[in-house]
Amino acid sequence: MPNKVVKLERWEICRNVEETSCQYCGVPLYTGDAVYQDQSSGADYCSTHCAKASTRADTLKVI
Ligand SMILES: [Zn+2]
Repeated sequence: MPNKVVKLERWEICRNVEETSCQYCGVPLYTGDAVYQDQSSGADYCSTHCAKASTRADTLKVI
């Protein structure tokens, strides 16, 4: 069984220019919100749930 590991970096949006949206569910992410960013693709997600669903990862490593 392949075990796909996806590394996510968790960070918080500090400035308006960093505002983005979840690339899976599309929810807007504003200043003060946490973002989970896929280290390989650079995709932003609102939660580990969305990151896992989008990347089909077996294991998520949040750094
Ligand atoms: Zn989401």
